[in-house]
Amino acid sequence: MNQSSNATILEIVRMSTEDGPGIRTTVFFKGCTLKCAWCHNPESISIRPQLCWVGSRCIGCKTCLSVCRENALTLTETGMQIDRTRCTGCGDCAEECPGTALELMGSQWQLDDLVAEVIKDRAYFETSNGGITISGGEPTIQAGFASQFLKALREKGLHTALDTCGQCSREALEQTLPYAAMVLFDIKLIEPEAHKKLTGHDNTRILDNLLYAADYIRAHVYPSEMWIRTPIIPGATATHGNISGIGQFIASHLDGVVSRWELCAFNNLCRDKYLRLDQSWAFADESLLEKSFLEELAETAKHSGVDPDIVFATGATRLSGY
Ligand code: SF4
Ligand code: SF4
Repeated sequence: MNQSSNATILEIVRMSTEDGPGIRTTVFFKGCTLKCAWCHNPESISIRPQLCWVGSRCIGCKTCLSVCRENALTLTETGMQIDRTRCTGCGDCAEECPGTALELMGSQWQLDDLVAEVIKDRAYFETSNGGITISGGEPTIQAGFASQFLKALREKGLHTALDTCGQCSREALEQTLPYAAMVLFDIKLIEPEAHKKLTGHDNTRILDNLLYAADYIRAHVYPSEMWIRTPIIPGATATHGNISGIGQFIASHLDGVVSRWELCAFNNLCRDKYLRLDQSWAFADESLLEKSFLEELAETAKHSGVDPDIVFATGATRLSGY
């Protein structure tokens, strides 16, 4: 097994109620194998730590400029320019910034430290039947560490969940699956060409890995269940044809394995993240989905051949006409 004693972690989010059953602590690994056009976590795509600047906190002292040995920073009238070809992500400037205007997204964690950090929330897990979810990015990129982390938590009697996009090696899946109590698996688009156009890869490997994970669950006590999640993105995944096609795939191939299929409504809360990373985002001006449209898609899902009781629509929506 590919072992690793440390990993690049983007953040640890406590009190999550969206990444599996009960109250959960979600550990977001940095690095992703897909590049979805609508990505809500652009800071998770690169496995490297990334610097960002929050203008409203900057007092203009220029300490950061003198600290940076790579000459990667320039403070102009329009704001801080970060030369990302020079920045190594060392974090020295962020440490010295008196206004906390510079932030390094992503840091290295040792296995024992990360385990100790998440089990601080044990009381919440026990009272809510919750646990720990590893997500990203794509946690299987760092499969050696991810599997050791899940294993350590399992040995402490904690519930674990693996949240994966499925675009990973079979070996990475084999390493992590045995230590996950459940699997959260994304199916974004059923059409291979559309999948390739909007995420950078077709879905051949993803669906193949999904079938492997389903067979693994059927043959083992652990993991015990799978949730499917579909992001509902206007102009991309949010069509009746796509939802119907995904439902037919679940009904045909994942019977008895999937206990929940979530249609997760698009939101634009990540707009500022793109700005801080100096990146444009094609969905920046997109508004929330209309409530009635999400409900219609949920109806399509319920009539696609799956058990209607496993279909749930989640996330904020807007009223029609607003
Ligand atoms: S050190 Fe921080 S507050 Fe000072 S100029 Fe740099 S970013 Fe702004
Ligand atoms: S993170 Fe390091 S290399 Fe990058 S700008 Fe800051 S001090 Fe310079």
